[in-house]
Amino acid sequence: MAYKFVDNYRERGARKKLVELLKSKGIEDKRVLAAIGKVPRHYFFDETFWSQAYRDVAFPIGEGQTISQPYTVAYQTELLHVEKGDKILEIGTGSGYQACILLELGAEVYTIERQKNLFDRTIQVLPYMGYRPHFFLGDGSLGLPEHGPYDKIIVTAGAPVVPEGLLQQLVMGGLLVIPVGDENSQKMITILRVGENEFERIELDTFRFVPLVGDQAWGPEI
Ligand code: SAM
Repeated sequence: MAYKFVDNYRERGARKKLVELLKSKGIEDKRVLAAIGKVPRHYFFDETFWSQAYRDVAFPIGEGQTISQPYTVAYQTELLHVEKGDKILEIGTGSGYQACILLELGAEVYTIERQKNLFDRTIQVLPYMGYRPHFFLGDGSLGLPEHGPYDKIIVTAGAPVVPEGLLQQLVMGGLLVIPVGDENSQKMITILRVGENEFERIELDTFRFVPLVGDQAWGPEI
């Protein structure tokens, strides 16, 4: 894929309109909206597809995966209540767009991807754009215990169940945001760690993600 990093008036204008659209769909957090307004989403697309970059839809990024719909990114980010300096684990780096939004909010981001081609692309492209999360290649359904615990964990692929290990990688008061369900639809779930083995779980809206594939998730045949 040929990337080009030029952010001109056309893309900036389209980004403003996208922010207005997300507001109209119920995204309220001004910091989240500002981050969406700042990160050039078209940088994650081949130039041929720039006209698609600010539509509120998911888009293929290769390997059968997608860059999530902007509304979904905004929705999950809003749920995370990111504070400056938060240590956040993102499971499913994909294009790297969500990681950039978290970095714009001042988080320290650990991001893990299972697909080598996507991992190879993001470790090259994101630093070139000026975004520097900690990149990992591996099975994020196990979390990333060697670098934990985390203030927040965000899963950007659909899980069949909440992987147990992720809960143990949250600090006390830490928050997990994860879509859980079958292959076709998942409920967004937030889980707050309130004690050693005590968690508060809230079930929210329905989404459709690509599957979380791994030891504590779907098998590779899905
Ligand atoms: N956050 C991404 C972005 O901003 O582009 C969107 C991610 S896409 C919807 C989901 C990603 O999760 C895919 O890139 C997929 O390869 C990855 N994935 C699926 N199972 C995984 C696992 N067990 N560990 C790490 N990544 C996984």
